Amino acid sequence: MAAASAQKPAGSPLVEVEHLTKHFIVKQGVFARSKGVVHAVEDVSLTVNRGETLGIVGESGCGKSTTARLIVRLLEPTSGVVRFDGQDISRLSQRQLRPLRRQMQIIFQDPYSSLNPRKSIGQIIGEPFSIHKTEKDTKNRVRELLGRVGLSPEHYNRYPHEFSGGQRQRIGIARALALQPRLIVCDEPVSALDVSVQAQILNLLRSLQDEYDLTYIFISHDLSVIRQVSDRIAVMYVGRVVETGQSELLYEHPRHPYTAALLSAVPRPETNGSGGKRQRIVLGGDVPSPVAPPPACVFHPRCPRARIGHCDTEAPVLRPFEGDHEAACHYPVERWPMTGEELAHRPAEEPAPESASAG
Ligand code: SF4
Repeated sequence: MAAASAQKPAGSPLVEVEHLTKHFIVKQGVFARSKGVVHAVEDVSLTVNRGETLGIVGESGCGKSTTARLIVRLLEPTSGVVRFDGQDISRLSQRQLRPLRRQMQIIFQDPYSSLNPRKSIGQIIGEPFSIHKTEKDTKNRVRELLGRVGLSPEHYNRYPHEFSGGQRQRIGIARALALQPRLIVCDEPVSALDVSVQAQILNLLRSLQDEYDLTYIFISHDLSVIRQVSDRIAVMYVGRVVETGQSELLYEHPRHPYTAALLSAVPRPETNGSGGKRQRIVLGGDVPSPVAPPPACVFHPRCPRARIGHCDTEAPVLRPFEGDHEAACHYPVERWPMTGEELAHRPAEEPAPESASAG
């Protein structure tokens, strides 16, 4: 049981992020001159409530992993605030962060690269206990954890290379659990696994969440995986949160054209009663470079609904829809599902811009 988290009610904020920004300076040449700035995370605000799973989804390079690393302070923010359990941790020194580290753990995509190949599983998982517990107690606790994540306690003396990908991920989970954390960042934890093994790991994470009262930030590029695990979702594009809200609301009626395009690629044979056809919406162009993000709405060069003269000059802010659903778009999707042609069609009540009114 995570006794520490029982002090405040489930559903109250554990993590609060305000205007979080991370820029990386790109240097090049013999004199390491500054070549530019990577706008990895730009003005991100979100909340993660106790006991819930916040899914962060987006294409590769959208800033989702950087955001998670900023939250657990593996990276220094350029600006903005991160609060953990009400405490501003964004400017704490590494020494000040030490007591908080055990409360915030990460499960990585490739556990093999984060497991020391020269150490046995018992040593890897038991490391945090070695200061406080006797050898016998450490062994018992590690065996208990191995059993809890679906491995045999007899695996104690084996080495990482002796395990399959799924088993290694279970070891990574046991290691993260060892310190009884309150927050676990799951960074693409099933992306490298077969579909059948993915389901087992997702089920394990879900049951551990209930048992240990855990809060998850779950990062994935895969919307169908995100849907299975998330209570709420934040969709990121080029370092910004473009849409956020309860999982069901967002899947049933995405408001941002980017989310709509992502969702159209998720296999689902049936259509809803609105008569809309389910057809993949193919976006043109590439994801822009975070070194030179497009002005105003960063999605405008690829957006089928973009209006030149508005979307490229005025940045949309997150605005509310039903429930806690928010999207940053001047011309949000009015119904769902839609075909690509329907998405590109402007709503009747919205006047077309002069430059595109012909026809
Ligand atoms: Fe598309 Fe304009 Fe909305 Fe951006 S603001 S997503 S360009 S419609």
